[in-house]
Amino acid sequence: MMTKEQIMQTAMDHVYDMVIAYDLTGDIVFANRTAKDLLDYQEEIYNHTIVEIFPGIFRFSGGMVQLMCSNEGDSIEVDAYRANRTCFPVQMRLTTNQDGTCVCVAFDRTKETYLTRKNEQVGQEAQVAEKIKSEFVANVTHELRTPVNGILGNILELKEMESDPAKMRILSLVERGCGDMNAIINNILDFSKLESGKFTLEKREFEFRTMMEYIKSNHKRKITEKGLEFTMSIAPDIPEKIIGDELRIVQVLNNLLSNACKFTSVGSIAVEVVKTAQMGHRIELFFLVMDTGIGINKVDQDKLFKSFSQVDASISRRYGGTGLGLNICKQLVEMMDGDIHVESDEGQGSMFSFQIWVDVPADEVEQSAVGQGEASVQRSAVPIKTLSDFTSASGMDELRSYGSKENLEEINRNLNKLILSVEMDNWEKAEGFSNTLRELTALAPQEIKNAFLRLKMAVQRQDYDRVTEQYEQFKQMIEQ
Ligand code: ADP
Repeated sequence: MMTKEQIMQTAMDHVYDMVIAYDLTGDIVFANRTAKDLLDYQEEIYNHTIVEIFPGIFRFSGGMVQLMCSNEGDSIEVDAYRANRTCFPVQMRLTTNQDGTCVCVAFDRTKETYLTRKNEQVGQEAQVAEKIKSEFVANVTHELRTPVNGILGNILELKEMESDPAKMRILSLVERGCGDMNAIINNILDFSKLESGKFTLEKREFEFRTMMEYIKSNHKRKITEKGLEFTMSIAPDIPEKIIGDELRIVQVLNNLLSNACKFTSVGSIAVEVVKTAQMGHRIELFFLVMDTGIGINKVDQDKLFKSFSQVDASISRRYGGTGLGLNICKQLVEMMDGDIHVESDEGQGSMFSFQIWVDVPADEVEQSAVGQGEASVQRSAVPIKTLSDFTSASGMDELRSYGSKENLEEINRNLNKLILSVEMDNWEKAEGFSNTLRELTALAPQEIKNAFLRLKMAVQRQDYDRVTEQYEQFKQMIEQ
């Protein structure tokens, strides 16, 4: 049977920490196995003093050993010196017994220190690499802008000289390509600036309704050209003038509206702005951009605001885009103290909403809100629309249910536009109308769907004779 002392000795020799005891004069009176191994001593350790092992915190004074740093019991980080005078970092704690003997327990921090240094180094290297990457992206995109604008300038000049419609159409296509490329370059530049924290907002006074009119005129033609209805409503209690970054608010709205237009082929698109809160000279504006388009399923909604995310690759092939737009919108809105959300159902439409805080010039602040102080927020009781409110108000159920008056009228309208586009040799537009027709006939009987599919294939093949033949057949079938 082991004695208590033997048990203690065995335990002491097997702990991972160094345990060293020393007396008032600094002589070592006990050292466990770990201490001897790590310090490269054997029994001769008893011929040495604690000052030799930890010269950083002990010294002799009048023949007695003295601790030069923090209080006893505290954890101390110090270097321990081996017999050959090399050293390693340890973390130690000291306790003094009643007879003046001190016990020091210390563990080797070599591995931890190494890992911390390594992590710091990796972190620094990653930061440098990130900076180089951002600068590279910013430089390349900036450099790309010059040739694109050069091409654009020349195309505009050529268009002035040209009168042949076929050549004009090609020139217009190149012009559109340059515009798309510029938009992509701007997105990448904004994104890299936002990522590197170099993006700042500019606050200026501007006319809110003029800005909204500008947005409306930017999109109205394209939306109505697609046969969609477009409405915009602005709450009357929003002041005429506000102070904020007009350019960036326009950018967010433009992005949401372009997406709404891109992903909607039947129904309507609407924009609504209401004032939801006021705090002294600041107001919260709430924007809604709604569409009756293809919608986004619940799983994909989570990925939407992440960079480079497009719901699926086939969508990006069909509709184009870099998947940066919504991420930039989210970052811009957050810089304006707001948030962006989406409510959507596959096949039903989407509703993007965001709120931002803007300032109001002193002479525009509503009397009721003056003197309310910074602390009190007045929330307006504005009823906020839901997606289903919007889709049912847009009459989407009637429009989609095959055979209803609204549905047949819409099919006929799109068919006429399709055949007109084919006659004008605009196959891209014709394909757009055939996509809309596919949605309008989604709930039709199988023979109608088949007839439509034949028409769609003829459009895809750009076969004029076949399109007119299939068009007649399809039209007869729906008129029966
Ligand atoms: P991109 O610049 O490629 O359009 P965005 O970040 O603006 O990128 O949009 C990312 C993806 O989100 C789109 O490719 C599309 O799949 C989906 N999306 C965005 N807005 C809508 C919408 N109104 N209806 C349906 N899908 C949408």
